[in-house]
Amino acid sequence: MSAVKKVLVVGGGIGGQSVAIALAKNGVEVEIAERLDAFNVYGVGIIQQSNALRALDRIGLADKTMEEGFPYGQLKMYTAGGHFIGLAGAPPVEKYPSHNGISRRTLHEIMYAEAIKMGVTYKMGTTVTEIENSENEVTVTFTDNTKSTYDILVASDGINSDMRSLIFGEFKPRYMGVSVWRYPFKKHEDLDTSYMYYGKRSKIGFVPMCEKTMYMFLVSAEGAHNPWIEKSAYIPMLKNYLSEFPVKIAQDAREQITDPDLVNYRPIEASHLPDPWFKNRAIVIGDGAHATVPQLGSGAALALEDGVVLAEELKNANTVEEAFNAFMKKRYERCMAIVNASETLAEWELLEFEGKSLPEGASIGQVVGKAVGTLMAPF
Ligand SMILES: Cc1cc2nc3c(=O)[nH]c(=O)nc-3n(C[C@H](O)[C@H](O)[C@H](O)COP(=O)(O)OP(=O)(O)OC[C@H]3O[C@@H](n4cnc5c(N)ncnc54)[C@H](O)[C@@H]3O)c2cc1C
Repeated sequence: MSAVKKVLVVGGGIGGQSVAIALAKNGVEVEIAERLDAFNVYGVGIIQQSNALRALDRIGLADKTMEEGFPYGQLKMYTAGGHFIGLAGAPPVEKYPSHNGISRRTLHEIMYAEAIKMGVTYKMGTTVTEIENSENEVTVTFTDNTKSTYDILVASDGINSDMRSLIFGEFKPRYMGVSVWRYPFKKHEDLDTSYMYYGKRSKIGFVPMCEKTMYMFLVSAEGAHNPWIEKSAYIPMLKNYLSEFPVKIAQDAREQITDPDLVNYRPIEASHLPDPWFKNRAIVIGDGAHATVPQLGSGAALALEDGVVLAEELKNANTVEEAFNAFMKKRYERCMAIVNASETLAEWELLEFEGKSLPEGASIGQVVGKAVGTLMAPF
């Protein structure tokens, strides 16, 4: 049984598909309204720590995700020139490795196939324009002017969530001053785990996605006000940043970066809603509630966790309000600990790229260690 029978999920990304699969497994009828006409998930990867795998296990998908991805150990950190600094990330937990790298597209396909198998329906090319959100039900108007009534609406439409604005009013994410560049490659033969190199102007990392592929991320500071960059500048800028890293893997990558269409460039934003993330029968999960800057590689993991925890609370509670309150109790502090830690890391990174000193007592190791401890705790 569940406190709900019919649910609308708005946004078919990682959080949306997680909650949809988890609810459908509890016998709930679930529709996903997705703004895109067809999914077109970009082909770079995602880092999954063991908490992401634990969440996927609760919807029966961890093994498949590891089969299709690349389970690996702790992250190895180096100076730009290749001097070893140390290891980061939790050691293996239970049956889960420290990390799994996987292509975003592959993860999407695994989740989509499971959602379809569980009877979730997708309304593609559709969003919601109006919400009548009462204490007992929620009625929405879709872009095709049809109306439908549901027990609850779950907004999982990402960092710039329109549903969040419809539920709570206007809300804008904050630009963090740093940007992330990503590029997919054939896997470097020696890449046995993920590697990160700290330069003066940027930091780079290489992450395996499966036996055959890997991706590179590069974090840089592109100015306080206009982080938008012409596509024609992508390749020269990336090559220029990579010139700071004499290590072989970076120099090989530098030679192979040739196609601007394969570059995924994103100025990094952050945002979080105050507690509670729900009003009457509508609730926001994933990036719409707590967009985590990627410095701890955890936003998608938290979105996955949100989905499974929300479905579990709806299953265990007698009323929606009880379930939403129980969800907030489990999620708010955990998510905020990661949001705050990753924002601190991004702020310090920006100071370093700008050649400024870190605040007195700043300890990257301590912030990362505490965050990893939080991520490894049960949820
Ligand atoms: C550079 C970068 C690197 C990252 N690396 C990692 C990593 O390694 N590991 C990790 O765990 N996390 C990582 N993240 C974070 C992760 O990508 C996000 O936290 C995660 O995608 C959030 O999932 P979501 O479902 O909330 O939103 P999204 O994945 O953004 O999905 C939102 C969905 O809603 C749809 N949508 C949007 N608006 C509407 C609307 N109005 N109506 C209907 N549908 C709509 C979108 O088309 C999309 O399908 C990274 C983020 C960035 C920016």
